[in-house]
Amino acid sequence: MTVHEAAGHGGGRCRSFHDGILERRIDNGNHLVLSGNHAVLGYLREIGGEDGLTGPETAEFPFLELGSGLRWTVRPGAGPIPWWILFPGRRVPGTRTAEYLRVLGLARAPADATVASCLDRGGLLFKRFWEPLAVSILNASAEEGAASLLWPVLKETFGRGRAACRPLIAEKGLSECFVDPALRLLGNRVRFNSRLRALAVGPGRAVSLEFGGNTVELGTGDRVILAVPPAAAAGLVEGIVTPRGSRAIVNGHFRLDAGRQTLSFLGLAGGLSQWLFVRHDVVSVTVSAADDLMDDPADDIARRLWPEVAFALELGDAPLPPFRIVKERRATFAQTPANARARPGVRTPWNNLYLAGDWTDTRLPATIEGAVRSGWTAADAVLNS
Ligand SMILES: Cc1cc2nc3c(=O)[nH]c(=O)nc-3n(C[C@H](O)[C@H](O)[C@H](O)COP(=O)(O)OP(=O)(O)OC[C@H]3O[C@@H](n4cnc5c(N)ncnc54)[C@H](O)[C@@H]3O)c2cc1C
Repeated sequence: MTVHEAAGHGGGRCRSFHDGILERRIDNGNHLVLSGNHAVLGYLREIGGEDGLTGPETAEFPFLELGSGLRWTVRPGAGPIPWWILFPGRRVPGTRTAEYLRVLGLARAPADATVASCLDRGGLLFKRFWEPLAVSILNASAEEGAASLLWPVLKETFGRGRAACRPLIAEKGLSECFVDPALRLLGNRVRFNSRLRALAVGPGRAVSLEFGGNTVELGTGDRVILAVPPAAAAGLVEGIVTPRGSRAIVNGHFRLDAGRQTLSFLGLAGGLSQWLFVRHDVVSVTVSAADDLMDDPADDIARRLWPEVAFALELGDAPLPPFRIVKERRATFAQTPANARARPGVRTPWNNLYLAGDWTDTRLPATIEGAVRSGWTAADAVLNS
């Protein structure tokens, strides 16, 4: 087996790097997984990286509303029936039990439904919980995000009680957790700086791969798993249907003066930032569905994000510290109802060519969990072929 990777490093959209301005190793962007993401946890066990994730002992999601300064913590109950929504003290402030039950509408949502069309957009629960949650899970506004992609996540996590929805974060970094142990396992089977430039197909099968001057003819026993982003797959193989368009994510990383030494995260409602992670002396905030920010200078983005961060961390009017803005223009495919229906399965019209990646038809949003599941599906298909 050989893995060809176009970049000089592993990890793709989920990686860490040394930042010269912060003088710290940072992630390209905050990544949150939940304890119900069983494929992610299985993958980490497989590569020997199960110690790489950390999080609170129990499922709790602290939130802050930026305008009002109101803070609350959502603590899902132990079992699948969410009894906690009956108790005002455990609900999102200002919300009623009946508002929570509206979420069941997502389960019956037609294929063309968006999140906003299924939930009550006027209520505080939408503003303080469903909207920030949906935008971060789907990387799309509630008005365009596919209801069919949000429901499976809620069912597999919040719908199974607190053991399945502990929030987990890579303790040292995304690469240290998800990538480096896998690369150690793969050893010299990985070729970096090896971009697939062309893939030739013949009747019923892929016949050759071209890596910038080096052509690999495929033998009868050879199988190819094309695990590149959708635009790259569409460019390499004519006739593959892929989701169209992408959505951006922006992360702002700020170096704090004093080491906080605690690893924590916070959901933010009512501002530009949506999630805030603190790791040692670096605080990172995420803006999902951030296409509107793509052409803004990094300085301007940092100046808009920093007051929200300072407010959340109670830093008063602390001046803007050293920062790094990371713009991921194609963070995920645009997770609209139309694109949710355009995701291809693992098999292609060519019997030795398989597809993998978070954009293939995993029935989940474009997440690490989806990417890992698609990888297992492709591996199974190859082994059973
Ligand atoms: C900022 C940000 C925040 C995110 N937050 C979360 C989160 O909180 N939780 C979560 O679960 N998910 C999150 N995600 C999504 C998650 O990162 C992706 O779903 C996952 O990394 C996708 O993995 P993949 O293997 O499908 O694709 P990729 O990671 O894109 O891997 C594709 C690889 O193919 C390589 N490649 C491309 N073209 C070629 C070619 N021609 N030849 C050879 N190699 C090629 C690329 O270099 C890349 O390494 C986030 C993503 C971003 C960008």
